[in-house]
Amino acid sequence: MSAAKKHVMTRGAWAEPGSSLAFKTGTWRVEAPFHQHRCAPCHDACPAGEDAQAWIAKIQEHRLQEAWEELVAANPLPAITGRVCPHPCETSCNRGSLDTAIAIHDLERFVGDAAIEHSWAYPWLAKKGSRKERIAIVGAGPAGLSCAYQLIRRGFAVSVLDALPEAGGLLRSAIPMTRLPRDVVDAELKRLFALGIEFRPRQQLGRDVALEDLEAEYDAVFLAPGCQQSHGWDVDGATPPDLHEGLHMIREWIDLGSIPKPASVVIHGGGNTAVDLARIMKRAGVAEVSIITASGLPGPDTDPDDVLNVVPREFDEAVEEGIVFYPHHTIKRLIMRGSQTTGVEIARLKKIPGAGGKKKRIAFEGTERVVHADMVIPAIGEIVDPAGLEELLDHQPYFHPDEWGRLQGRTTVLAGGDARGDRGTVSAAIGDGRKAAIAIAAMLDKRSLPDESRERIDVEALNLNYFTPAARAEPPKLKVAERTDQAEIIGSLSEGEVFGEADRCLSCGNCLACDNCWNYCPDNAVLKTVELASDGSHYVFDFEYCKGCGICAKECPTGYIRMRPEE
Ligand SMILES: Cc1cc2nc3c(=O)[nH]c(=O)nc-3n(C[C@H](O)[C@H](O)[C@H](O)COP(=O)(O)OP(=O)(O)OC[C@H]3O[C@@H](n4cnc5c(N)ncnc54)[C@H](O)[C@@H]3O)c2cc1C
Ligand code: SF4
Ligand code: SF4
Repeated sequence: MSAAKKHVMTRGAWAEPGSSLAFKTGTWRVEAPFHQHRCAPCHDACPAGEDAQAWIAKIQEHRLQEAWEELVAANPLPAITGRVCPHPCETSCNRGSLDTAIAIHDLERFVGDAAIEHSWAYPWLAKKGSRKERIAIVGAGPAGLSCAYQLIRRGFAVSVLDALPEAGGLLRSAIPMTRLPRDVVDAELKRLFALGIEFRPRQQLGRDVALEDLEAEYDAVFLAPGCQQSHGWDVDGATPPDLHEGLHMIREWIDLGSIPKPASVVIHGGGNTAVDLARIMKRAGVAEVSIITASGLPGPDTDPDDVLNVVPREFDEAVEEGIVFYPHHTIKRLIMRGSQTTGVEIARLKKIPGAGGKKKRIAFEGTERVVHADMVIPAIGEIVDPAGLEELLDHQPYFHPDEWGRLQGRTTVLAGGDARGDRGTVSAAIGDGRKAAIAIAAMLDKRSLPDESRERIDVEALNLNYFTPAARAEPPKLKVAERTDQAEIIGSLSEGEVFGEADRCLSCGNCLACDNCWNYCPDNAVLKTVELASDGSHYVFDFEYCKGCGICAKECPTGYIRMRPEE
């Protein structure tokens, strides 16, 4: 009853409970209800570590700035991720079992844009400059920037070095403007650097500065160089004489606006680079653009581990624009006339058991066919450029740190982002940067790492009877004929749509402030504070009267109330 003393309480009463208060039904109890904030699947699935349930609850109360502050506790770049993240949070969203998942990324984009528009201040965790330690970060992509933000808001001094003249990494140099306008990148990064992060451009590790120098000068170093070197590619030892690599072509197109325009092209790969390049070339006027990929296409029958590694809507848009996909295929042979490429022979892939129980894919004899093309472009991924990092990489293509970015045998050098090799999205890079910052702070303070694990709440634990179907808000989208090289294809939701969409959230694992427990308790044993709260602190059990019937737990729509035996 301590909470009852702190707050003004009201007893759930549609009739005057006067006489029944004399019966202390709490003495009958063998089980007791308790509130437990479990981890919503959207939170569990977010690689950046965002608690979407918590910040969407703030939007439900129309507290947009507080929603943004809650969100940027994990991710400082919501205007960017709201546009580019493949949103695994939505794939996991429990609302998908009722009708359609919450449009979390559209909400994220809206609060990110609102923060830029209204210049909301990033929340600090310690006084600026309150720590004497200095941290160096190599790479100003999303991983490096996220780490810098989490460290500066904890009071550390942070310098970010990058080989390029401008910060942003692939956000600036590779992701097409049709998905991520550069004024959004500029605005969000400008606000981050305004916190006091030092930026040292044109400082390439291995050329302008050595890792040993950074280790001597700084208290810790976070390496986030991404993957800048192409994987080797050939078909049975053969390569076209005019070999262009996919990411290099996108970079040239973004920097200079130039792109080759053959009559037909085949792109080999199954990630963002392959699909983005295909769409850029199609818009530039290449009549036939095909993608040969070992992956499967998005759909209910495709294993999630097997699906194309792109934002789902990017695949839909590519199909709308006329890109032809050959899923589960590989290139078996380059077909040349003299030194001119004229096509490729492709074959279907099948999975067979490989070493260590893992399946491996091999070409299916007899399924060969020819695809005509004047140009073949590999887009099969990149590895870390080893220059300056040879000793740490030890001939490996990627770093292999633990989940906090800590490298074996090193206490003050950490690594993360794409350079891990098993990442590949902006939100995963942001999550790596955040965790590395927490690990650096813990290391400098000689503290142990926090336990971020929380029991996840799946749809079976909810009472879906209390939720009525409601259509998901859909943002405006440019028609194929309206699409250019620059115009953003997907637009924003309106404020009204954002509030409506947030109201669809089931508040999985947390209090919805629906009053069900307060209404249904037959013993008036649920009290509530007068002030609203979006974290469940709104309701308190009065154990003098709670007889442990469990109705509150059964009728809680969100699974926030559970029962346990009385001790
Ligand atoms: C074409 C394309 C489209 C994509 N689209 C999406 C998308 O829609 N959604 C999504 O989530 N992800 C997308 N991605 C992936 C995403 O961009 C990356 O996962 C993310 O940028 C990785 O962040 P990072 O900070 O690890 O590395 P990067 O963004 O690569 O940044 C690394 C930085 O380190 C610098 N650097 C490298 N080496 C050195 C050195 N030796 N010294 C100093 N500085 C160095 C680089 O200049 C760069 O600025 C896309 C990728 C590509 C290629
Ligand atoms: S960063 Fe991506 S996964 Fe995380 S909440 Fe935003 S859209 Fe969802
Ligand atoms: S309904 Fe809301 S809390 Fe539940 S998983 Fe979806 S977004 Fe998260």
